[in-house]
Amino acid sequence: MYAERLKNLGTETAFEVTNEVSRLKGKGYNIIELHIGEPDFDTPEYIIRAAKKALDDGYTHYTPSGGLPQFKKSIARYFSETRQISPPPLQNIIVAPGAKPFIGYAITTLVNPGEEVIYPNPGFPIYESQIGYWGAKLAPLPLKENKQFRFEHSDLERLVSNKTKAIYINSPQNPTGSVLTKDDLEFIADLAKKYDCWVFSDEMYSQLVYDGEFNSIIRIPGMAERTILVDGMSKTFAMTGWRVGFALVPEKLAKLIENQIINTVSCTAAFAQIASAQGLEAYLDGNLPEVGAMVSEFKTRRDLAVDLINREIEGFSCLVPPGAFYDWVNCTSACREKGFRDSKQLQHYLLWEGHPSRKLVSLTSKTDFGMRLAGETQEYLRVSNANSRDNIREGIKRIRDMLSDGESTEKFLREKA
Ligand code: PLP
Repeated sequence: MYAERLKNLGTETAFEVTNEVSRLKGKGYNIIELHIGEPDFDTPEYIIRAAKKALDDGYTHYTPSGGLPQFKKSIARYFSETRQISPPPLQNIIVAPGAKPFIGYAITTLVNPGEEVIYPNPGFPIYESQIGYWGAKLAPLPLKENKQFRFEHSDLERLVSNKTKAIYINSPQNPTGSVLTKDDLEFIADLAKKYDCWVFSDEMYSQLVYDGEFNSIIRIPGMAERTILVDGMSKTFAMTGWRVGFALVPEKLAKLIENQIINTVSCTAAFAQIASAQGLEAYLDGNLPEVGAMVSEFKTRRDLAVDLINREIEGFSCLVPPGAFYDWVNCTSACREKGFRDSKQLQHYLLWEGHPSRKLVSLTSKTDFGMRLAGETQEYLRVSNANSRDNIREGIKRIRDMLSDGESTEKFLREKA
């Protein structure tokens, strides 16, 4: 009775965990939430005031589908200054309600059913969901722990072919926090040119880099004409609920993507665009100290979390992620020792209603970020640093205590067998 194609649509499990957490909280459970992919900071006051004023000024109507010209001007400046490129023409810039819609628009604009799309595994789950939903062929590119969760160049070389239509990349990366090097980007660019494919560069975490430097593929000569570059307000400006994202695209794609915006959401909220424009300008002028303070706090939390995970939890190990705000924790030994089938089962145990303490921890795990690849042996949990230092400490302590509580572990495993 439902459309057949829906069976190919995946999801973003973090939203489902949020639902489960609110159900359990409603029943009186105490939960440390480390599954969340959004800053726990408030939107800077300056941007909120700008939005209020925009509403008073009458920015309450539809806008041009691709975005207000004054916002596009600020986005052009942002791309120019943060990627060291000359300011792009406004007709190459498109605004949407969040960066997420572009993931699907890129497929519907560029890829026919049966054509191949390469994307990172583990990776933001909506890539796999949208690629599969639109009938394209999934070509997951493994990210390897021994490469600091970047990809092995030989793996990409093996995957790419004349059938490849697009390569999705994400740096800094969700869920591993890895950051691609110039060398990685040049390697991707060379293959994209050789096989004439598009690149979708998800740079949502571009301003959240703690070690080393951020590089964008857009800077490489010849890539602007084959790259859809996406960034947005959600992470850097703690504005997830505002729904504002933007893309820099080759001119010939702009109208095609805009028409899909017309066919779906019409445009992005006018007052949110005005406030975002002012936010970008203030940030670039050095007048938005909240962003720098947030980045610095994320770094402190990262160092705290990684140190505690490595020192306190037997069977867990974690590399230091250079970007984004997630720790991608190898929990293979803990799973094996305690008898968990995989990290998903361990994740469920940590949020198990039956635990006598009623003090739980919410996380996401490996298969929330893409299919299991043939021959894979390692298990991972994602810890989000978007929570206070005290809560990170308490969450990690709870994980340690729950793992060493043999009685509860056995009871859980018996019940779930
Ligand atoms: N891309 C990546 C890699 C993300 O992690 C997220 C959000 O978690 C998004 C895109 C979506 O961002 P937005 O809130 O702008 O839709």
